[in-house]
Amino acid sequence: MASIQLQGKIFLKGTIKAQTGLHIGGNSGELDIGGIDNPIIRNAFNRQPYIPGSSVRGKMRGLLDRYFNKPLEKRVGRDVRVHECQTPAEYNNCPICQVFGVAPQGALRGKTMPTRVIVRDTFLTQESLDALDKADTDTDFTEIKTEVAIDRITSAATPRQQERVPAGATFGPFQIVHSLYTQTENGKRPPLQDELQFFDTLLTGIELLEDDYLGGSGSRGSGQVAFENLTMTFKSRGCYENADMAPIPIAEDVDIKTLRQSDYTAKILQTISNQ
Ligand SMILES: [Zn+2]
Repeated sequence: MASIQLQGKIFLKGTIKAQTGLHIGGNSGELDIGGIDNPIIRNAFNRQPYIPGSSVRGKMRGLLDRYFNKPLEKRVGRDVRVHECQTPAEYNNCPICQVFGVAPQGALRGKTMPTRVIVRDTFLTQESLDALDKADTDTDFTEIKTEVAIDRITSAATPRQQERVPAGATFGPFQIVHSLYTQTENGKRPPLQDELQFFDTLLTGIELLEDDYLGGSGSRGSGQVAFENLTMTFKSRGCYENADMAPIPIAEDVDIKTLRQSDYTAKILQTISNQ
């Protein structure tokens, strides 16, 4: 009989800086007459733009699918295909489905681990809200970028507009929570070192995202983001058992490259073996 145990949670925090204008599409259903034709997503309460965790998560997963050369066998809607493992043999060797999760259906029913990563929504920092307020932008906290679509044959031009959070805006703190699990089967369990490899997959996803784009119109300049001032802490089982025990600091104020090169794996393994 297999059993799954939580060994602790890694918390990654920091800021997401829009290096170029950022367009994460909103619901065009809320479009007013005379409004712009391509609005961004906003918090319904205060109308402030934010970065949905699902956008970051989905983009990282898509980039990792291509990085690991995974087949895109699952259809989502009419035009979108994504990767999701179908058999336990595939799943057991797939870092993407292990990190981001799969639907436990068909042959995978009862054979999967819980989803390891959670990406929370991230809001504009107070500093950026104040700066955008002062800047007197086209609309609340955003700019309207007008692009011209040119007919390749007749050269007729059609202007189109897109709403963006201006370059330089900073969102934060963002929070990504990654759970470390061990599965014991017939008295045996794989080394924790292997489990920590899944966290490195997540860091690879962040690095790929920095070199790609978030939201729409990436090939036309939008959506370059940087994950900055990264801080990593580890909350072991002991922290949940003993309220006086604080999470262990693992890295502070680093960029993604520096974090990947650091000895975070050794520090976490040490913390787990000490308890
Ligand atoms: Zn997979």
